[in-house]
Amino acid sequence: MIRITELALPLGHAPDALRAAVLKRLGIPATDLLDFTVFKRSYDARKKNSEISFVYIVDVEVRHEAAVLARLNADRHVGPAPDTSYHPVAHAPDGLQERPLIIGFGPCGLFAALLLAQMGFRPIVLERGRHVRRRTKDTWALWRKKQLDPESNVQFGEGGAGLFSDGKLYSQIKDPKFYGRKVMQEFVKAGAPAEILYVSKPHIGTFRLTGVVSSMREQIIALGGEVRFESRVSDLLVEDGRVTGVQLADGELLASRHVVLALGHSARDTFRMLHARGVFLEAKPFAIGFRIEHPQSLIDKARLGKYAGHLELGAADYKLVHHARNGRAVYSFCMCPGGTVVAATSEVGRLVTNGMSQYSRNERNANAGIVVGISPEQDFPGGPLAGVALQERLEEKAFALGGGDYCAPGQLVGDFLRQTPSTSLGKVQPSYKPGVRLGDLAEVLPAYAIDAIREALPVFGRQIHGFDRDDAVLTGIETRTSSPLRITRDPVSLQSLNTRGLYPAGEGAGYAGGILSAGVDGIRVAEALARAMLADHAGESRT
Ligand SMILES: Cc1cc2nc3c(=O)[nH]c(=O)nc-3n(C[C@H](O)[C@H](O)[C@H](O)COP(=O)(O)OP(=O)(O)OC[C@H]3O[C@@H](n4cnc5c(N)ncnc54)[C@H](O)[C@@H]3O)c2cc1C
Repeated sequence: MIRITELALPLGHAPDALRAAVLKRLGIPATDLLDFTVFKRSYDARKKNSEISFVYIVDVEVRHEAAVLARLNADRHVGPAPDTSYHPVAHAPDGLQERPLIIGFGPCGLFAALLLAQMGFRPIVLERGRHVRRRTKDTWALWRKKQLDPESNVQFGEGGAGLFSDGKLYSQIKDPKFYGRKVMQEFVKAGAPAEILYVSKPHIGTFRLTGVVSSMREQIIALGGEVRFESRVSDLLVEDGRVTGVQLADGELLASRHVVLALGHSARDTFRMLHARGVFLEAKPFAIGFRIEHPQSLIDKARLGKYAGHLELGAADYKLVHHARNGRAVYSFCMCPGGTVVAATSEVGRLVTNGMSQYSRNERNANAGIVVGISPEQDFPGGPLAGVALQERLEEKAFALGGGDYCAPGQLVGDFLRQTPSTSLGKVQPSYKPGVRLGDLAEVLPAYAIDAIREALPVFGRQIHGFDRDDAVLTGIETRTSSPLRITRDPVSLQSLNTRGLYPAGEGAGYAGGILSAGVDGIRVAEALARAMLADHAGESRT
């Protein structure tokens, strides 16, 4: 297979133009071209007011491959394609009785379970929330009727925190073994659009993600795995520094010496239980801030110029960073083009926002978190759980400022910058449900964060004209940007530093920061666990 990179074609090119470009670049007759697939397609919008083009990476099968490669040896955009296919690292031996347990069925637990099931280890998944259909109903009950179910919501339930999301599937993690590709291929097999395999910023959107997740659950079950909903793990059984099983909230005990902890960042009760059991935890940095909303057309115009609204480009996104004078980094987080701001709490009396969108990304507003980085050393000293306690305090303040009924506190950007409470909206209508109560957001976050955001917004307004317009809406608050702690693991065995057989994984453990990276971490942990189970089994068979 030959890989061609940097193959540029104009926007709106004819469907067969790519084939012609491949033939031309390789200098071969059509009869020598056996097949080709697009590995990646991005667009270059640097010259947005003159020309935007698609840039392709294409993998090509040709006759006489060695001769073609030798002839084009000097062309740095043509070379052998790397092997990106996935090769399982183990297979469960016949008669293996013990089954691994996976706590949590978000993207990390989902991929850990799928991989273990594919390798024949028959995992048992324990998920505190409900299955996708029931969970969707429960989540909408908060958005429509202000009724929160603390066990089935935006954070908890089948599919994990990423289920009601934009479904952005990109990440900046290093991925030398192409596990990200395996994640995408499994999503496509389960019904995601095939384009996620090649577009540079793939996303699935909420409604499609729900179908994908339930289809993957069926696969796990067909391969001998088990997925148990409404099964909250309330205790961990540990003997001589080794996990031996878990206890569920209803008292049931399940034995296993191999347990994946794929909890997500909102399992605060479980973090406290792990701390009480002596599992090694440490506080880590995260970020706090607000969501901001603008008309999507404003972002499209700033990013795509005369191509704004072009069907092939879709709704534009942005990524912004500012280093404030007080030493704080302010940055945009989880930007959702053409989406909505959502109520994302899992706890009674606390309020937190996030963003989501559908595959079409055709809602009126663009939204993103505008957040400030904070660290245990500077902002929340006091041990592994101090970040959790800070999040809880801030979310309680936001709940009270929003009126105590899950409406979010909000403020117009102009008023926020002038330091006056807002009393009425302008043209931008906030999308957060069940509703926004206007007021003064400066009351809800520490002064250093407010100062940094006040400094950053006009700077962002110079990069995206209108970003700091008076009637852009801020909604509070963002606190669950990533886990406030790490359940530290050994870098080789991927087991907890002080509890053997326990595999902390994904976002809650501090090893992922999004759907794709959580899925990749699930694969890594499944491989480490499979190897360890095989080694244990071999040792026991010898004795
Ligand atoms: C509204 C929203 C939008 C987002 N948008 C995007 C996006 O577009 N792109 C992106 O990459 N990321 C997005 N994210 C972040 C992404 O969802 C997370 O990074 C990802 O889901 C983390 O995966 P995970 O499997 O590690 O944890 P989670 O997805 O949080 O899953 C953890 C699971 O563990 C379960 N659990 C917790 N405690 C227990 C227990 N004691 N017993 C049993 N089960 C338990 C929970 O119920 C949950 O289902 C978004 C998040 C939210 C909330």
